[in-house]
Amino acid sequence: MKVFIKRLVVSDFSSNCYIIGCNETKESVVIDPGGDSGLILRILKENDLRLTYIINTHGHIDHIGANSSVKKTTDCEVLLHKEDEKLLTDPVLNLSSLFMRDISIDKADRLLDDEDVIKVGRINLNVIHTPGHTPGSICLRIDRFLFTGDTLFASGVGRTDFPYGSHEALIKSIKTRLLILDGGIIIYPGHGEKSTIEKERLTNPFLT
Ligand SMILES: [Zn+2]
Ligand SMILES: [Zn+2]
Repeated sequence: MKVFIKRLVVSDFSSNCYIIGCNETKESVVIDPGGDSGLILRILKENDLRLTYIINTHGHIDHIGANSSVKKTTDCEVLLHKEDEKLLTDPVLNLSSLFMRDISIDKADRLLDDEDVIKVGRINLNVIHTPGHTPGSICLRIDRFLFTGDTLFASGVGRTDFPYGSHEALIKSIKTRLLILDGGIIIYPGHGEKSTIEKERLTNPFLT
């Protein structure tokens, strides 16, 4: 198989950070380095992976916390949807001020848009803009794998009681952009265990 996928549970908020690598070229991408940069860098090294990009599914602190420390060591580029750009540098919007530590993260190197395709070795990551949890929340699809950030969880959906959250937009995003995908696609959420599109379509209590 050409795709390497490793889940790491990071930060005080038990966020899922995913390391995705192309087994042929050894290029890689880290999705949501929320914390624990040392662990992330160690796994990259152990697997002989070169980091090309950090991609944030959205701009909350538990998904961006280690952006700067990982970038500094690897010289990768940081990518995030354009509508979450201001969250990186605003401690109120990125929620770090809620937890008594105001954190401003370096700006993104490139801003993403719906339907962008990010190439990492022979892997294509397709950007699906799914506003609701935050205005610039995205999901990332690689063939049969879908990384859903805090938009869709196994048996749950993202919170919308933070600044700029919208429950109506969230449900619309999930129903019109995610549940229409093939049922066998595996979901890797920003917190908790994996699932499938079909399982969530049939049993997620927030979507029936
Ligand atoms: Zn979040
Ligand atoms: Zn989160």
